[in-house]
Amino acid sequence: MNPEQQIKELREELREHNYKYYVLDNPVISDYEFDLKLKQLQELEAAHPEFYDPNSPTVRVGGEVTKNFNTVTHEFRMYSLDNSYSKDDLLDWVKRIRKLVDGEIQYTCELKYDGASMNLTYENGKLIRAVTRGDGFQGDEVTTNVKTIKSVPLQLKGDYPEKFEMRGEIVLPFEGFKKMNLERIDIGEEPYRNPRNTASGSLKLQDSSEVARRPLEFLWYSMKANRLPVATQYESLQKAREWGFKVPEVAKLCKNLDEVLEFIEYWDVHRHEMPYETDGVVIKVNQLQQQEELGYTAKSPRWAMAYKFKAESAVTVLNKITYQVGRTGAITPVANLEPVQLAGTIVKRASLHNADQIAKLDIREGDTVFVEKGGEIIPKITAVDTSKRAPSTPPTQYIEHCPECETPLERKEGEAQHYCPNTDGCPPQIIGRIQHYISRKAMDIEGLGGETVALLVTNGLIKNYADLYDLTMEQVIPLERMAEKSAENLVKGIGASKQIPFERVLFALGIRYVGETVAKKLAKHYKSIDALMEASAEMLVNVDEIGERIAESVITFFASEDNKTIIRRLKDYGVQLEISAEKLANQTDKLQGNSFVVSGVFEQVSRTELKKLIEDNGGKVSGSISGKTSYVVAGEKMGPSKRTKAEELGIPIISEEDFLAMIS
Ligand code: AMP
Ligand code: ZN
Repeated sequence: MNPEQQIKELREELREHNYKYYVLDNPVISDYEFDLKLKQLQELEAAHPEFYDPNSPTVRVGGEVTKNFNTVTHEFRMYSLDNSYSKDDLLDWVKRIRKLVDGEIQYTCELKYDGASMNLTYENGKLIRAVTRGDGFQGDEVTTNVKTIKSVPLQLKGDYPEKFEMRGEIVLPFEGFKKMNLERIDIGEEPYRNPRNTASGSLKLQDSSEVARRPLEFLWYSMKANRLPVATQYESLQKAREWGFKVPEVAKLCKNLDEVLEFIEYWDVHRHEMPYETDGVVIKVNQLQQQEELGYTAKSPRWAMAYKFKAESAVTVLNKITYQVGRTGAITPVANLEPVQLAGTIVKRASLHNADQIAKLDIREGDTVFVEKGGEIIPKITAVDTSKRAPSTPPTQYIEHCPECETPLERKEGEAQHYCPNTDGCPPQIIGRIQHYISRKAMDIEGLGGETVALLVTNGLIKNYADLYDLTMEQVIPLERMAEKSAENLVKGIGASKQIPFERVLFALGIRYVGETVAKKLAKHYKSIDALMEASAEMLVNVDEIGERIAESVITFFASEDNKTIIRRLKDYGVQLEISAEKLANQTDKLQGNSFVVSGVFEQVSRTELKKLIEDNGGKVSGSISGKTSYVVAGEKMGPSKRTKAEELGIPIISEEDFLAMIS
């Protein structure tokens, strides 16, 4: 096969797999196989630039940087929607439109997805432009970023019109949002407030490869053209699906207002089961002919109406504001509430975020407050009922000293958060850093848990993570609930962590803004801690994906004499502070992005070797089977429960030979 043909076939194949995975949620090949094909295509394209295609599946990984987003005028204006809040509002609307059109009116009901609206222009089946709503007349062109969103088709299938526009909402599903936030918190970044703002903010990132990493989705809701090949909104839903768009299945054709109300009632309750945020229902007159007759007001179509769900809120009393100190010293004020029932759970605490938020709400202890649950991880306080406040209640004074160590707090210019600067003497910071060091993604120390770390610190046995390596059984046994066996496991576990590879040690050090990915990048680039410590800020920012903020944080960390001492000690204990030569020779990223569970006994390699092979080739080893597992490598005498679980979840079970072939 000639390269042109090969490129063409690979593109088609990848397009189809992408569609099955992200639009149908029904992948038929493993991530690993997908990545292999993608890599193959990337290589072919690099070798044959003459076959460049701006819509090749390879553009989805991003990489292009947009410095300025151009303003583009919409060919068809992007209107707002009128809102309604009750059955009566809807009745009024239906009465109004009945007077304006002849014949029966049917409605298509869809959920109102809460994200950022997006207009996509297609010509001859190819995506040529993506523009935000902006003011409705003009928006910003964000094509490069939108191309990385996997549910946006770059090449359509079927009988699409020559030129037309597709509209939909870009959302960030809850699960991906939570995951992004956990990672941010872990490296000392402030978590994002809600999925909607994060989704729209993502579209304006300059680096499209960063957008590619965010699990954004495009949910289709309408099409526009001078002449459309459909007669109703409901038909256009079906067409959009055929052409390759993700159209949520919940949309329903309703014959009359009663059916519309039924739809609303059902989804008012069940919307919490949706994987992304929804804030209402959009009701659209189904016949396009009738839509045309109804037309538009200055702001919105007469033929559509949004029904807004009431945000689930509750009223309760704020008993006390307390302050938490995180591993990085960041202070978070927490509202301790009189327990109250909200959206199916009992709420006792809400985040107040920072001093500005407290001032903005003018919230005081003893206040009656409104609590809401949105996309946030914990509920938020939206307002204070000041009419219920006793006149003598004093305004909240934000603390000036650390609640744990009394050190005066600091606040950097431009940052919302207060910090306790007593990095080395503030107990929650000390404990937090060591807990991070031993955590699963870092040094993964078996036999040592977060609570024991706190005990070791409060008993004065350790002050930093280097101290762990000096611990003896005799020191540990007298601790509360510490049997001899557990003390032995603890010391063993600490010893075993000396085998953990450099990139994970680097992550474990807990340098602010150095998450797993950044640590890997730095380890790969510098190969040893000595080389990294010698790097200047200018050198650091020249490393792919390392920005000024990270560079500055790395420099500050290694400038500290205390940290230098700790590093020196870690080196003496034998912790891996460089990539070993043997490892450098054997490492690949062939298994990148795949998670493996190993079960049973093997012939050619030991279990430990097998696990090491997985990690050396960029894969992850996990102890239990879940939806996230890519493969189960099964040896002889594989556990029957593991087998059943894998079969239930449809996870491929491969043999030792299959695995070795994968990495050969
Ligand atoms: P609003 O911003 O409140 O005027 O509401 C209009 C916006 O709702 C549109 O710009 C869309 O981005 C968004 N929207 C979400 N879901 C839908 C849907 N199913 N149909 C139409 N618009 C929707
Ligand atoms: Zn402190």
